Order: sequence, then structure tokens, then C-alpha cells
Amino acid sequence: MPMNVQSIHSLSDRINQIRLLTAEIVNKEILPHENELWRHDRNRHSDADRKRARELREGIQAKVKQAGLWAPHLPDEYGGCGLNFLEHAYMNEVLAYCIGAASLFGVVAPNSGNQKILLKYGTEEQRQKWLVPLTEGKMQSGFSMTEPDNAGSDPRSIKTTARKEGNEWVINGHKWFTSNGIKADFLIVMCRTEDPTGRAEANGKMTQIIVPTKTPGVNVVRGIEVWGRASDHAEIIYDDVRVPLENQLGQTGSGHQAAQDRLGAGRVYHCMNSVGQMWRAFDLMVERATSREVHGGKLETKQFIQGFIADSYIDIQAARLMTIHTAERMDSGLDSRTDISALKIFVPEAYTRVVDRAIQVWGAAGVSGDLPLAGMYQGARTLRLADGPDEVHKIVIAKNVLKSYHAGESWDFGN
Ligand SMILES: Cc1cc2nc3c(=O)[nH]c(=O)nc-3n(C[C@H](O)[C@H](O)[C@H](O)COP(=O)(O)OP(=O)(O)OC[C@H]3O[C@@H](n4cnc5c(N)ncnc54)[C@H](O)[C@@H]3O)c2cc1C
Repeated sequence: MPMNVQSIHSLSDRINQIRLLTAEIVNKEILPHENELWRHDRNRHSDADRKRARELREGIQAKVKQAGLWAPHLPDEYGGCGLNFLEHAYMNEVLAYCIGAASLFGVVAPNSGNQKILLKYGTEEQRQKWLVPLTEGKMQSGFSMTEPDNAGSDPRSIKTTARKEGNEWVINGHKWFTSNGIKADFLIVMCRTEDPTGRAEANGKMTQIIVPTKTPGVNVVRGIEVWGRASDHAEIIYDDVRVPLENQLGQTGSGHQAAQDRLGAGRVYHCMNSVGQMWRAFDLMVERATSREVHGGKLETKQFIQGFIADSYIDIQAARLMTIHTAERMDSGLDSRTDISALKIFVPEAYTRVVDRAIQVWGAAGVSGDLPLAGMYQGARTLRLADGPDEVHKIVIAKNVLKSYHAGESWDFGN
């Protein structure tokens, strides 16, 4: 069933036009070919399937570029169409209706997050060398922060070091879950680079360093199996990896802040995607409820199922409004950390609930490879720990709220 997208009266003509154009491409060019493009049942991929998928992808990407919708998260001068967070949230709700469609519009994690930090922290030379080819789709990248032996939810605990030798950084460490690590051309690696005595040691500050994957000493050990399937989330050992000092991204010691900037934006993008996917799961659920006969009537006539529909509608509207609210705050330059954390907890949970109900309504077909629901369910569950687990975000919310009360002010709930 194609998605139903109408103009929203409070939005500008430009954004309404972008939404309608995006919906048209998704409905006409992507949804009818969804299973050929991404095969929900990944075991059924043959070489011919892959060739067909590649050709389809290239054709759709050309149409997206022609429509001026490529890379909405980036400014015009770097090959994007320059949307702010709010505009992007409204576009993405439509775009993410089809689970992989964003990649056909030039927005794909972890590249999109890396593009954002290259824009904010990179020199012009670095942007030309790394950002431009990423946007043109000529390169792939990864963000290498989490380590198997240290808590990823406490990134200040990372142990990978970079020490200066002459005009090079020498990097040593062990990372895992570096998304895209298997196919990346370069990795942005989070390292400790200094301590008060200038040596790279356990208490040093964080700096991000760009490492081309072909550099000697970058050992990609394996792609980690996720949800029972091979993936390109890589385990990587950095063994005396030498790169020029100019590969440093931003100031020495700015790595933690840059990671927070990157993850903050990334969390909002993930939630924008989740809202679009929730609408898709909702449509699938209602489609089945209105067509499937059980025990003498359509599923839609059973109150349990009506409850699923109502609860899912509530979950989606709440997630959608929280996403829009947070995107608006980010565009206004307001401190959005509390709202990002709230969003990052609520949306993946709501998304999990909505997909779970859709699966239930579809019965066995819901967990089959014939529908996108099983993949959506795994993605939703994974979001509850990737980019910071729920518990850490709850701590952030409570800390910020309590800080405000301790400063003698109650929480400004109008903001
Ligand atoms: C699919 C996927 C893709 C990923 N991609 C990347 C990537 O591209 N680059 C990258 O660097 N990393 C990536 N990660 C790693 C991810 O960011 C980390 O897994 C996440 O930050 C959690 O770290 P951890 O796994 O080490 O869990 P830990 O830090 O060991 O935490 C384990 C659990 O402890 C609990 N916990 C933690 N702190 C507290 C607390 N203070 N109070 C109470 N409970 C707590 C939480 O329930 C948490 O889930 C990815 C992960 C996944 C699953």
C-alpha cells in the first residue's frame, strides 16, 4: 500500500514540496522494488539479485539527485540540499517509510554522522579529501570509538592511544562494533592523545584522528555477527598505525565534544527514521487487520486488535511530536541534551511496541522474510543500546533536571 502524504498547513511551501516529492519517489520508485533492493530474507541473495539491486539503486539515486533531494543533511556547497533539523525531520518521516530508502537519498549512518563532524571540525583540506567523496558516494567511512574491554556507555574509559612521533600519530588499540568497518575507506578513530605531562596515557584527553583503512597496522579482525547474521560492524586492532599529524580532526582534546556533537545529531536522525518506520508498521498492521478473517470476522472487529491500533497511533504521535520538538530546539541553538536523551529513550521503545503489535497481527508472516517487520523489530531493539543505552540517557535527564532545581529554579517546561 503506498503511503498517504498530504501538505501540512503549518509548513512552508518548500518543505511541503520536498515531502510530496520524496513521497512520490518512495511510492513509485522504491516501495514496488523494496524486496529486490533489500530482500527482507537475506538468505535468498544470489549474484543476479545483487546485480539487479545495484542497477535499481543507481537508477533511483540518479532520480533523487535530479530532483535536488540528495544529502538533505548537508549544505549546498558540499553537495547536499541544505535542510535544517526540523525540515529534515519532516522529510525523513516520509523517506524512512521504506526502511532502506534514506541510503538512496545519500543519508546513511555512519557516513552521515562523520559528514557532520567533518563539516564542523574538519579543515577545508580535510573536507575536500574526505567529506566530498563521501557525499558523492565514492568512499565509505566508519566511526571507531567503542572497545570490547571498556564500557562503551562510558566513552571516557576508552584505552586506545595515539602518541606523537615526529610528524606522525602512532595509534594502538582495540575497537569493535565499528559500523561499516568492513568496507570503509577511512575510519574516524577516537584516541587518547595527551595527559598533563604530554604523554599518551590512560588519563589523557580524547582526540579524533582520520585513519585510511589501508594504512599498515589496521587489522580488521572480523565482521561481528548481529542478530544471527553477518554484518559489517567490525572488530579492529590498531597496531602501531602511523598517520600524518594533519589527519587530526579538530583541536587536540576536542574528541569527546566532537563525539557528543556527532552522536547528538545521529540520535535525532535515528529517531526521525524510527517515526517513518513506525508509520509503515502501522499501515501494515491496519492493512492486515482490515483484510484477515479469523473466528467469524475480520481482525479489525476484535477489540484486542482495535486496542493495538489505538495504542500504536498514540505511540507514533507522541514519538513524532517529541522528534519535531527536539529538532526545533536544535535549530534554535538551544541546549537540547535533555530532550535528545528523552527522545532517544522514548522513540526506540515506542517503535519496538508498534512493530511488536504489527508482528502479532500478522501472525507467522510477521516474523517471516516476506515482510520488513522482523528487520524493523531487530533495528528498534538495537537502538535501545546503540548510541548510548537507555539507563545512561535517564541519568542525563535526571542530572539536568535536578541541576536546575538545585540552582533554585524549577524546570522550564514551556521550553
Ligand atoms: C548495531 C550496533 C552498531 C554500533 N555502531 C557503533 C559504531 O559505529 N561505532 C562505535 O564506536 N560504536 C558502535 N556501537 C557500540 C555502541 O555505541 C555501544 O554498544 C553502546 O554505547 C553501549 O556500550 P557497551 O556495549 O560497551 O555496553 P556497556 O557500556 O558495557 O553497558 C552494558 C549495559 O550496562 C547498563 N549500564 C551502563 N551504564 C549504566 C549506568 N550508569 N547505570 C545503570 N546501567 C548502566 C546498560 O543497560 C547497558 O546496556 C554499535 C553498537 C551496535 C549494537
